[in-house]
Amino acid sequence: MKIGFIGLGNMGAPMAKNLARAGHEVIGYDMATVAVDGVWSARSASEAATDADIVVTMLPNGDILRAVAAEVIPAMKSGAVLLDCSTVDVESARAVAADAEAAGLLPLDAPVSGGIGGAAAGTLTFMVGGSEAAYKTALPLFDIMGQKAVHCGASGNGQAAKICNNMILGVTMIATCEAFALADKLGLDRQAMFDVVSTSSGYSWSMNAYCPAPGIGPQSPADNDYTPGFAAELMLKDLRLSQQAAEASDADTPLGQAATELYRTFVEDEDGKGRDFSAMLPRFEARKRG
Ligand code: NAD
Repeated sequence: MKIGFIGLGNMGAPMAKNLARAGHEVIGYDMATVAVDGVWSARSASEAATDADIVVTMLPNGDILRAVAAEVIPAMKSGAVLLDCSTVDVESARAVAADAEAAGLLPLDAPVSGGIGGAAAGTLTFMVGGSEAAYKTALPLFDIMGQKAVHCGASGNGQAAKICNNMILGVTMIATCEAFALADKLGLDRQAMFDVVSTSSGYSWSMNAYCPAPGIGPQSPADNDYTPGFAAELMLKDLRLSQQAAEASDADTPLGQAATELYRTFVEDEDGKGRDFSAMLPRFEARKRG
């Protein structure tokens, strides 16, 4: 296939490289000057999109996605797929999809989990919103860039799945960290805490697969001085998107709201920026009640 790829950052560059390595013709564009192995460079987003069977976007936020979409949609050929893999607000995803459909295109929102490591290894998970026809066309690309794709329904549902998952993740990471800090103060050994919780009803991905306590459980960013991994500011971005969606849909999400405020404080007022999101544990350890 001929693929236009817009946004060749930490995630987009390795994803585009994997598509080129699999034999697709990939024409990339980024507003910064970036060279990616096997990827042709276009001078503009619309040049990358012209004649493409699929245009992939991997951009920082919904406003930038809307601006790029306004440029590429008129340049794309009828029936082509506009595949946005960025994490953006549900409203922007749905607005872009509506514009693309009106122009005779097949839109998909397909945010990912798996991070930079997953992008490089081609093991991302895609959460996909859009029509069955668009999903089927893009499936070979999901197979190259990832190991799993889940079709979640209509446009915007991929973003909905992503922010609901990450709201759970933010809340459970905080719960796991505050429980470890409490256990420390009660004199409970961390290994014993892990051995009990990881096999009891408090278990979770945060405890079992990404334990925030150094030296305990499987290897995780905690064992590397909390170097991300998944940076606290990216967790804050996703939590804010969850609260934006909750407000727009009148959903009551008290723990999502509290998690958003905690990560905001951690990133903006404390030392959380640039640290893994599991560095909430040393934060709680250093604090007292009240
Ligand atoms: P990044 O900042 O490294 O890359 C974004 C790229 O978009 C940059 O290279 C930037 O120059 C380019 N860009 C910005 N505006 C542009 C425009 N108008 N035209 C063309 N290019 C433009 O970010 P990233 O880490 O690659 O993340 C991309 C998306 O993936 C984000 O939505 C992020 O939330 C999501 N995501 C990231 C991770 C992660 O671990 N990094 C994990 C899952 C999802």
